Amino acid sequence: MIYADYNGSAPLCDEVINYLKERYEKRFFANPNAIHFMGQQILMTMENSRATLAKLLGTKPKNLILNSGATEGISQIFHSLCYKRENLQRNTILISGIEHSAILNNADYWAKNENLEIITVETLTDGVVNLAQLTSIIEEKKDSLLMVAVMAANNETGIIQPYKEIASLCQKSNIPYLCDTTQLIGKVPFNFDDSGIDFAVTSGHKFGAQTGTGIILSKNPSLLKPFVIGGGQEKGLRGGTQNYIGFETMAVALSTFQEKWKKAEALKEKRAQFENRIKSEYPQAVIIGENSPRMATTTYIAFPGVLGQAVQIELESLGIYVTTSSACSDNEASTSNVLKSMGVTDDIGRGVVRISLGLCSQVEDYDAIGDALIKAYQKLSKIKIAN
Ligand code: PLP
Repeated sequence: MIYADYNGSAPLCDEVINYLKERYEKRFFANPNAIHFMGQQILMTMENSRATLAKLLGTKPKNLILNSGATEGISQIFHSLCYKRENLQRNTILISGIEHSAILNNADYWAKNENLEIITVETLTDGVVNLAQLTSIIEEKKDSLLMVAVMAANNETGIIQPYKEIASLCQKSNIPYLCDTTQLIGKVPFNFDDSGIDFAVTSGHKFGAQTGTGIILSKNPSLLKPFVIGGGQEKGLRGGTQNYIGFETMAVALSTFQEKWKKAEALKEKRAQFENRIKSEYPQAVIIGENSPRMATTTYIAFPGVLGQAVQIELESLGIYVTTSSACSDNEASTSNVLKSMGVTDDIGRGVVRISLGLCSQVEDYDAIGDALIKAYQKLSKIKIAN
Protein backbone atom coordinates (compact mmCIF):
# COMPACT_ATOMS: atom_id res chain seq x y z
CA MET A 1 0.00 0.00 0.00
CA ILE A 2 1.22 3.50 -0.79
CA TYR A 3 -0.50 6.42 0.85
CA ALA A 4 -0.10 9.42 -1.44
CA ASP A 5 -2.55 11.88 0.11
CA TYR A 6 -0.36 13.66 2.64
CA ASN A 7 -1.74 17.05 1.57
CA GLY A 8 -5.17 15.73 2.61
CA SER A 9 -3.94 14.38 5.93
CA ALA A 10 -0.57 12.96 6.91
CA PRO A 11 -0.38 9.74 8.92
CA LEU A 12 0.83 10.12 12.52
CA CYS A 13 4.62 10.10 12.30
CA ASP A 14 6.52 7.27 13.99
CA GLU A 15 7.90 9.56 16.67
CA VAL A 16 4.35 10.62 17.62
CA ILE A 17 3.15 6.99 17.77
CA ASN A 18 6.04 6.08 20.08
CA TYR A 19 5.46 9.17 22.18
CA LEU A 20 1.76 8.40 22.57
CA LYS A 21 2.36 4.75 23.50
CA GLU A 22 4.59 5.86 26.36
CA ARG A 23 2.37 8.80 27.20
CA TYR A 24 -0.77 6.69 27.63
CA GLU A 25 1.11 4.03 29.61
CA LYS A 26 2.08 6.69 32.17
CA ARG A 27 -1.60 7.58 32.72
CA PHE A 28 -0.56 11.22 32.98
CA PHE A 29 -3.89 13.05 32.72
CA ALA A 30 -5.49 16.03 34.44
CA ASN A 31 -7.15 19.31 33.62
CA PRO A 32 -4.35 21.78 32.84
CA ASN A 33 -6.46 24.52 34.43
CA ALA A 34 -6.67 22.76 37.79
CA ILE A 35 -4.42 24.20 40.47
CA HIS A 36 -3.55 20.85 42.06
CA PHE A 37 -0.14 19.32 41.44
CA MET A 38 -1.29 17.00 38.62
CA GLY A 39 -3.02 19.84 36.80
CA GLN A 40 0.01 22.06 37.12
CA GLN A 41 2.27 19.31 35.78
CA ILE A 42 0.03 18.94 32.74
CA LEU A 43 -0.02 22.71 32.29
CA MET A 44 3.77 22.77 32.40
CA THR A 45 3.99 20.00 29.80
CA MET A 46 1.56 21.87 27.55
CA GLU A 47 3.48 25.14 27.93
CA ASN A 48 6.73 23.31 27.15
CA SER A 49 5.08 22.11 23.93
CA ARG A 50 4.05 25.68 23.11
CA ALA A 51 7.62 26.87 23.74
CA THR A 52 9.01 24.10 21.51
CA LEU A 53 6.54 24.94 18.73
CA ALA A 54 7.29 28.66 19.03
CA LYS A 55 11.03 28.06 18.76
CA LEU A 56 10.62 25.76 15.76
CA LEU A 57 8.35 28.29 14.05
CA GLY A 58 10.63 31.24 14.76
CA THR A 59 8.56 33.22 17.22
CA LYS A 60 7.70 33.64 20.90
CA PRO A 61 5.31 31.37 22.84
CA LYS A 62 2.96 34.31 23.53
CA ASN A 63 2.28 34.55 19.78
CA LEU A 64 0.79 31.05 19.59
CA ILE A 65 -2.88 30.28 20.16
CA LEU A 66 -3.42 26.52 20.20
CA ASN A 67 -6.72 25.35 18.76
CA SER A 68 -8.44 22.62 16.71
CA GLY A 69 -6.94 23.44 13.31
CA ALA A 70 -6.65 25.82 10.39
CA THR A 71 -10.38 26.16 9.72
CA GLU A 72 -10.95 27.36 13.27
CA GLY A 73 -7.93 29.65 13.08
CA ILE A 74 -9.05 31.20 9.81
CA SER A 75 -12.59 31.67 11.15
CA GLN A 76 -11.33 33.36 14.32
CA ILE A 77 -9.10 35.72 12.37
CA PHE A 78 -11.88 36.73 9.97
CA HIS A 79 -14.24 37.17 12.93
CA SER A 80 -11.64 39.33 14.72
CA LEU A 81 -11.00 41.58 11.74
CA CYS A 82 -14.46 41.81 10.16
CA TYR A 83 -17.06 41.73 12.95
CA LYS A 84 -18.06 45.22 14.07
CA ARG A 85 -14.84 46.68 12.70
CA GLU A 86 -13.96 50.08 14.10
CA ASN A 87 -12.77 51.67 10.88
CA LEU A 88 -15.80 51.50 8.57
CA GLN A 89 -13.82 52.98 5.71
CA ARG A 90 -11.92 49.71 5.54
CA ASN A 91 -14.49 47.60 3.76
CA THR A 92 -12.54 45.50 1.26
CA ILE A 93 -11.01 42.03 1.56
CA LEU A 94 -8.28 41.08 -0.91
CA ILE A 95 -7.91 37.34 -1.53
CA SER A 96 -6.58 35.06 -4.26
CA GLY A 97 -8.65 32.63 -6.30
CA ILE A 98 -6.54 29.65 -5.22
CA GLU A 99 -7.40 29.86 -1.53
CA HIS A 100 -8.80 26.94 0.44
CA SER A 101 -12.57 26.93 0.92
CA ALA A 102 -12.08 27.99 4.56
CA ILE A 103 -10.75 31.36 3.34
CA LEU A 104 -13.16 31.67 0.39
CA ASN A 105 -16.25 30.88 2.47
CA ASN A 106 -15.22 33.08 5.40
CA ALA A 107 -14.64 35.96 2.98
CA ASP A 108 -18.09 35.36 1.42
CA TYR A 109 -19.76 35.07 4.82
CA TRP A 110 -18.31 38.31 6.15
CA ALA A 111 -18.83 40.13 2.86
CA LYS A 112 -22.55 39.31 3.09
CA ASN A 113 -22.90 39.98 6.82
CA GLU A 114 -20.81 43.13 7.13
CA ASN A 115 -21.40 44.53 3.68
CA LEU A 116 -17.83 44.12 2.51
CA GLU A 117 -16.36 43.98 -0.96
CA ILE A 118 -14.10 41.12 -2.06
CA ILE A 119 -11.35 41.69 -4.60
CA THR A 120 -9.67 38.60 -6.05
CA VAL A 121 -6.15 38.99 -7.34
CA GLU A 122 -5.46 37.10 -10.55
CA THR A 123 -3.40 33.90 -10.61
CA LEU A 124 -0.94 33.46 -13.47
CA THR A 125 -0.97 30.31 -15.60
CA ASP A 126 2.08 29.04 -13.68
CA GLY A 127 -0.05 28.90 -10.50
CA VAL A 128 1.57 31.86 -8.77
CA VAL A 129 -0.51 34.91 -7.83
CA ASN A 130 0.12 37.99 -9.95
CA LEU A 131 2.36 39.99 -7.63
CA ALA A 132 2.44 43.04 -9.91
CA GLN A 133 -1.35 43.21 -9.91
CA LEU A 134 -1.48 42.62 -6.16
CA THR A 135 1.01 45.46 -5.65
CA SER A 136 -1.09 47.90 -7.65
CA ILE A 137 -4.33 46.85 -5.90
CA ILE A 138 -2.70 47.46 -2.51
CA GLU A 139 -1.33 50.79 -3.69
CA GLU A 140 -4.68 51.91 -5.07
CA LYS A 141 -6.91 50.55 -2.28
CA LYS A 142 -4.68 50.81 0.76
CA ASP A 143 -7.10 53.02 2.69
CA SER A 144 -10.05 50.70 2.16
CA LEU A 145 -8.36 47.30 2.60
CA LEU A 146 -9.45 45.54 5.76
CA MET A 147 -7.24 42.49 5.25
CA VAL A 148 -5.29 40.50 2.66
CA ALA A 149 -5.48 36.69 2.56
CA VAL A 150 -3.10 34.86 0.23
CA MET A 151 -1.83 31.41 1.11
CA ALA A 152 1.78 30.22 1.40
CA ALA A 153 1.56 26.87 -0.42
CA ASN A 154 -1.36 25.52 -2.38
CA ASN A 155 -2.99 22.28 -1.23
CA GLU A 156 -3.74 21.05 -4.76
CA THR A 157 -0.71 22.10 -6.79
CA GLY A 158 1.92 22.38 -4.05
CA ILE A 159 2.97 25.70 -5.62
CA ILE A 160 4.63 28.09 -3.20
CA GLN A 161 3.40 31.69 -3.26
CA PRO A 162 5.54 34.83 -2.72
CA TYR A 163 4.23 35.25 0.82
CA LYS A 164 7.23 37.21 2.14
CA GLU A 165 6.87 39.81 -0.63
CA ILE A 166 3.13 40.03 0.08
CA ALA A 167 3.84 40.46 3.80
CA SER A 168 6.24 43.28 3.06
CA LEU A 169 3.67 45.05 0.84
CA CYS A 170 1.00 44.71 3.53
CA GLN A 171 3.36 45.90 6.24
CA LYS A 172 4.21 49.06 4.28
CA SER A 173 0.52 49.89 3.90
CA ASN A 174 -0.43 48.78 7.40
CA ILE A 175 -2.90 46.12 6.24
CA PRO A 176 -3.30 42.91 8.27
CA TYR A 177 -2.03 39.93 6.29
CA LEU A 178 -3.51 36.47 6.93
CA CYS A 179 -1.38 33.80 5.32
CA ASP A 180 -2.72 30.24 5.25
CA THR A 181 0.46 28.27 5.98
CA THR A 182 -1.36 24.95 6.50
CA GLN A 183 0.45 23.19 3.66
CA LEU A 184 3.82 24.85 4.19
CA ILE A 185 4.51 24.25 7.88
CA GLY A 186 6.24 20.93 8.47
CA LYS A 187 7.06 20.52 4.78
CA VAL A 188 9.24 23.55 4.01
CA PRO A 189 11.37 25.65 6.43
CA PHE A 190 9.33 28.53 7.84
CA ASN A 191 10.12 31.35 10.26
CA PHE A 192 7.12 33.37 11.40
CA ASP A 193 8.94 36.44 12.75
CA ASP A 194 11.12 36.71 9.63
CA SER A 195 8.14 36.29 7.32
CA GLY A 196 6.47 39.59 8.28
CA ILE A 197 3.06 37.85 8.25
CA ASP A 198 0.49 39.16 10.75
CA PHE A 199 -1.56 35.98 11.13
CA ALA A 200 -0.66 32.44 10.04
CA VAL A 201 -2.57 29.20 10.63
CA THR A 202 -1.91 25.50 10.44
CA SER A 203 -3.33 22.08 11.34
CA GLY A 204 -1.34 19.40 13.18
CA HIS A 205 -2.68 16.56 11.04
CA LYS A 206 -0.92 17.96 7.98
CA PHE A 207 2.51 17.36 9.53
CA GLY A 208 2.16 14.08 11.43
CA ALA A 209 0.45 15.21 14.67
CA GLN A 210 -3.07 14.31 15.82
CA THR A 211 -6.16 15.59 14.04
CA GLY A 212 -8.14 18.25 15.88
CA THR A 213 -4.99 20.25 16.68
CA GLY A 214 -3.81 23.52 15.21
CA ILE A 215 -2.11 26.84 15.74
CA ILE A 216 -2.75 30.52 15.11
CA LEU A 217 0.48 32.46 14.90
CA SER A 218 -0.13 36.11 15.60
CA LYS A 219 2.31 39.02 15.56
CA ASN A 220 -0.08 40.90 17.82
CA PRO A 221 -2.55 38.59 19.61
CA SER A 222 -4.35 41.60 21.11
CA LEU A 223 -5.93 42.10 17.66
CA LEU A 224 -7.75 38.78 18.08
CA LYS A 225 -11.21 38.40 19.55
CA PRO A 226 -12.36 35.16 21.19
CA PHE A 227 -14.41 32.96 18.94
CA VAL A 228 -14.95 30.07 21.34
CA ILE A 229 -15.89 31.66 24.65
CA GLY A 230 -15.40 29.69 27.84
CA GLY A 231 -13.19 29.57 30.90
CA GLY A 232 -10.50 32.02 29.82
CA GLN A 233 -8.06 29.47 28.40
CA GLU A 234 -5.43 30.58 25.87
CA LYS A 235 -5.33 34.00 27.56
CA GLY A 236 -9.04 34.40 26.98
CA LEU A 237 -8.72 33.87 23.23
CA ARG A 238 -10.04 30.30 23.07
CA GLY A 239 -12.19 28.82 25.79
CA GLY A 240 -12.53 25.13 26.62
CA THR A 241 -10.26 22.58 28.23
CA GLN A 242 -7.19 22.36 26.05
CA ASN A 243 -6.42 19.32 23.88
CA TYR A 244 -3.10 19.09 25.68
CA ILE A 245 -2.07 15.63 24.43
CA GLY A 246 -2.83 16.75 20.88
CA PHE A 247 -0.73 19.88 21.37
CA GLU A 248 2.14 17.74 22.69
CA THR A 249 1.97 15.66 19.50
CA MET A 250 2.36 18.83 17.40
CA ALA A 251 5.59 19.64 19.24
CA VAL A 252 6.86 16.06 18.82
CA ALA A 253 5.98 15.96 15.10
CA LEU A 254 7.46 19.37 14.28
CA SER A 255 10.64 18.57 16.23
CA THR A 256 11.40 15.89 13.64
CA PHE A 257 11.25 18.37 10.75
CA GLN A 258 14.95 19.31 10.55
CA GLU A 259 15.94 15.65 10.30
CA LYS A 260 13.25 14.88 7.70
CA TRP A 261 14.03 17.99 5.67
CA LYS A 262 17.42 16.40 4.84
CA LYS A 263 15.48 14.04 2.59
CA ALA A 264 13.74 16.77 0.60
CA GLU A 265 16.41 16.99 -2.12
CA ALA A 266 16.35 13.22 -2.69
CA LEU A 267 12.55 13.28 -2.93
CA LYS A 268 12.66 16.20 -5.35
CA GLU A 269 15.14 14.39 -7.59
CA LYS A 270 13.08 11.22 -7.54
CA ARG A 271 9.92 13.17 -8.27
CA ALA A 272 11.63 14.76 -11.29
CA GLN A 273 12.61 11.28 -12.53
CA PHE A 274 9.04 10.09 -12.04
CA GLU A 275 7.54 13.08 -13.85
CA ASN A 276 10.04 12.78 -16.72
CA ARG A 277 9.27 9.09 -17.05
CA ILE A 278 5.54 9.76 -17.41
CA LYS A 279 6.14 12.57 -19.89
CA SER A 280 8.48 10.52 -22.05
CA GLU A 281 5.90 7.71 -22.12
CA TYR A 282 2.99 10.12 -22.64
CA PRO A 283 4.12 13.50 -24.03
CA GLN A 284 0.54 14.77 -23.82
CA ALA A 285 0.54 14.45 -19.99
CA VAL A 286 0.39 17.81 -18.21
CA ILE A 287 2.10 18.52 -14.91
CA ILE A 288 0.48 21.53 -13.28
CA GLY A 289 2.97 24.21 -12.26
CA GLU A 290 5.84 22.06 -13.44
CA ASN A 291 8.33 24.93 -13.55
CA SER A 292 7.02 26.89 -10.56
CA PRO A 293 8.45 26.72 -7.04
CA ARG A 294 6.74 23.61 -5.70
CA MET A 295 6.82 21.58 -2.50
CA ALA A 296 9.15 18.60 -2.94
CA THR A 297 6.41 16.04 -2.50
CA THR A 298 3.44 17.11 -4.65
CA THR A 299 2.68 16.24 -8.28
CA TYR A 300 -0.58 17.36 -9.86
CA ILE A 301 -0.85 15.54 -13.17
CA ALA A 302 -3.42 15.09 -15.93
CA PHE A 303 -3.81 13.17 -19.13
CA PRO A 304 -6.09 15.33 -21.28
CA GLY A 305 -9.41 13.63 -21.93
CA VAL A 306 -8.99 10.99 -19.19
CA LEU A 307 -11.09 11.52 -16.06
CA GLY A 308 -9.08 11.93 -12.84
CA GLN A 309 -11.53 9.82 -10.91
CA ALA A 310 -11.03 6.91 -13.29
CA VAL A 311 -7.27 7.18 -12.79
CA GLN A 312 -7.82 7.31 -9.03
CA ILE A 313 -9.83 4.07 -9.14
CA GLU A 314 -7.17 2.32 -11.24
CA LEU A 315 -4.43 3.39 -8.83
CA GLU A 316 -6.51 2.38 -5.85
CA SER A 317 -6.98 -1.11 -7.30
CA LEU A 318 -3.18 -1.37 -7.05
CA GLY A 319 -3.14 -0.12 -3.46
CA ILE A 320 -2.10 3.49 -4.23
CA TYR A 321 -4.20 6.19 -2.60
CA VAL A 322 -4.34 9.57 -4.37
CA THR A 323 -7.05 12.20 -4.78
CA THR A 324 -8.41 14.02 -7.78
CA SER A 325 -8.30 17.52 -6.28
CA SER A 326 -9.01 18.78 -2.77
CA ALA A 327 -10.82 16.22 -0.62
CA CYS A 328 -13.91 18.42 -0.23
CA SER A 329 -14.74 18.38 -3.94
CA ASP A 330 -13.75 14.77 -4.56
CA ASN A 331 -17.17 13.66 -5.72
CA GLU A 332 -17.45 16.23 -8.48
CA ALA A 333 -15.91 15.60 -11.88
CA SER A 334 -15.34 19.28 -12.45
CA THR A 335 -12.36 21.54 -12.76
CA SER A 336 -11.42 22.87 -9.33
CA ASN A 337 -11.49 26.58 -8.48
CA VAL A 338 -7.72 26.52 -8.13
CA LEU A 339 -7.25 25.23 -11.67
CA LYS A 340 -9.92 27.55 -13.07
CA SER A 341 -8.05 30.48 -11.51
CA MET A 342 -4.94 29.33 -13.37
CA GLY A 343 -6.88 29.22 -16.64
CA VAL A 344 -6.69 25.42 -16.94
CA THR A 345 -9.20 24.04 -19.42
CA ASP A 346 -11.75 21.33 -18.52
CA ASP A 347 -10.13 18.52 -20.51
CA ILE A 348 -7.08 18.88 -18.26
CA GLY A 349 -8.91 20.10 -15.14
CA ARG A 350 -11.20 17.10 -15.03
CA GLY A 351 -8.26 14.77 -15.49
CA VAL A 352 -5.95 15.73 -12.66
CA VAL A 353 -4.83 13.46 -9.87
CA ARG A 354 -2.89 14.78 -6.91
CA ILE A 355 0.00 12.63 -5.75
CA SER A 356 1.21 13.99 -2.43
CA LEU A 357 3.85 12.19 -0.38
CA GLY A 358 5.50 13.25 2.88
CA LEU A 359 9.08 13.94 3.85
CA CYS A 360 9.10 10.56 5.58
CA SER A 361 7.86 8.67 2.49
CA GLN A 362 10.21 6.28 0.71
CA VAL A 363 11.72 7.74 -2.49
CA GLU A 364 11.08 4.32 -4.12
CA ASP A 365 7.33 4.98 -3.81
CA TYR A 366 7.70 7.04 -6.99
CA ASP A 367 8.73 3.91 -8.95
CA ALA A 368 5.58 2.04 -7.95
CA ILE A 369 3.38 5.09 -8.57
CA GLY A 370 5.01 5.54 -12.00
CA ASP A 371 4.37 1.89 -12.96
CA ALA A 372 0.74 2.17 -11.85
CA LEU A 373 0.11 5.51 -13.58
CA ILE A 374 1.53 4.28 -16.89
CA LYS A 375 -0.71 1.23 -16.67
CA ALA A 376 -3.75 3.38 -15.86
CA TYR A 377 -3.13 5.80 -18.73
CA GLN A 378 -2.56 2.89 -21.12
CA LYS A 379 -5.99 1.51 -20.27
CA LEU A 380 -7.94 4.74 -19.90
CA SER A 381 -6.55 6.82 -22.76
CA LYS A 382 -8.68 4.68 -25.07
CA ILE A 383 -11.84 5.77 -23.19
CA LYS A 384 -13.12 9.26 -23.98
CA ILE A 385 -14.96 11.61 -21.60
CA ALA A 386 -18.61 12.02 -22.57
CA ASN A 387 -19.40 15.76 -22.49
N1 PLP B 1 -6.00 25.51 4.39
C1 PLP B 1 -5.38 24.65 3.56
C2 PLP B 1 -4.41 25.17 2.56
C3 PLP B 1 -5.65 23.29 3.64
O1 PLP B 1 -5.06 22.44 2.82
C4 PLP B 1 -6.60 22.85 4.61
C5 PLP B 1 -6.96 21.43 4.67
O2 PLP B 1 -7.09 20.75 3.68
C6 PLP B 1 -7.19 23.80 5.45
C7 PLP B 1 -6.87 25.12 5.32
C8 PLP B 1 -8.19 23.39 6.50
O3 PLP B 1 -7.58 22.53 7.43
P1 PLP B 1 -8.46 21.74 8.51
O4 PLP B 1 -9.48 20.99 7.74
O5 PLP B 1 -7.46 20.86 9.20
O6 PLP B 1 -9.04 22.76 9.41
